[in-house]
Amino acid sequence: MKILVTGAAGFIGSNFVFHMRKAHPEYDIIALDSLTYAGNLETLAPVMEEDHFTFVRCDITDREGVRKVFEEHHPDVVVNFAAESHVDRSIEDPGVFLRTNILGTQVLMDACRVFGIRRFHQVGTDEVYGDLPLDRPDLFFTEDLPLQASSPYSASKASADLLTMAYHRTYGLPVTISRCSNNYGPYQFPEKLIPLMIANALADKPLPVYGTGENVRDWLYVEDHCRAIDMILENGKVGEVYNIGGHNERSNLDVVKTILKQLGKPESLITFVGDRKGHDLRYAIDPSKIHGELGWLPETKFDDGIRQTIDWYLNNESWWKNIISGDYMEYYEKMYGNR
Ligand code: NAD
Repeated sequence: MKILVTGAAGFIGSNFVFHMRKAHPEYDIIALDSLTYAGNLETLAPVMEEDHFTFVRCDITDREGVRKVFEEHHPDVVVNFAAESHVDRSIEDPGVFLRTNILGTQVLMDACRVFGIRRFHQVGTDEVYGDLPLDRPDLFFTEDLPLQASSPYSASKASADLLTMAYHRTYGLPVTISRCSNNYGPYQFPEKLIPLMIANALADKPLPVYGTGENVRDWLYVEDHCRAIDMILENGKVGEVYNIGGHNERSNLDVVKTILKQLGKPESLITFVGDRKGHDLRYAIDPSKIHGELGWLPETKFDDGIRQTIDWYLNNESWWKNIISGDYMEYYEKMYGNR
């Protein structure tokens, strides 16, 4: 079995590579990434020299480059993690999100059609459903809800999902889609909520929290997400969408307070900043389809997962300190000033 993993030098893609190396050591993995600001080849160092592993630097919007990768490696399965993934950046500059997330997905699926494939798996997000009100804890996202994206990021991901389903219906491409809630864990780029707050707290810098911090996200440990995708590849039905989430809803403020408590830092570091434009209120996944059909359940409790994540950032300072220099600091200062 040959699996092409795109976006493999990013947060979830790299964790998925590590998961697959352990779960299926006999599989050949072709890890593809264009190494944008969010891609870090250092992350893949532990597997770089292993047998059954190849890294290719390629942009998924580069039709000729992607064709060459397929010609050389003939993957059986493609799992598409490659994306521009940060909502705030999509608000600043939507163009690259549309290019990578929509056109890149098209280029990959066109190559799948030409070369033949057993499965194309599109890694999607629960953000395509829009948001839920804070005062209706009885409501959850199910797979049959209409797509109602709020940000340019989620609109680009919703477009990619629609295109994926259209390729299934029109060309018979064997596709599956997963839509996951917010992930956390090792190797997450420190612009995302949890690693940003850990990094700032460790440096005794203010922790910028949008609005009132009441927005609710459904947090899932990254390994649980990777295991779910593995199960969908093994036993998921072609042409189906699977929501992935752990019924672990927390407000942003709760998450930030948990991090401060675990690090022994004062809540006075919390600084409320102007709200994100169009900020979604609540995401909450109903995972009963993937549980019922494939038997998937999350295995990591939030208290354990957040402890492991904090420990990882404490033990791997050089990984994230290298990142929060240079270009990223320019972006950070533009978003949050000197905070
Ligand atoms: P990330 O930003 O950490 O990683 C994205 C990777 O894609 C990077 O390594 C980057 O270099 C690469 N990439 C970007 N543009 C590319 C291009 N044109 N060609 C090739 N590679 C390119 O993102 P992530 O958090 O790991 O997310 C991975 C996927 O999971 C995305 O599709 C995202 O929408 C989805 N997702 C993420 C979350 C989450 O909480 N992080 C939740 C649900 C779904």
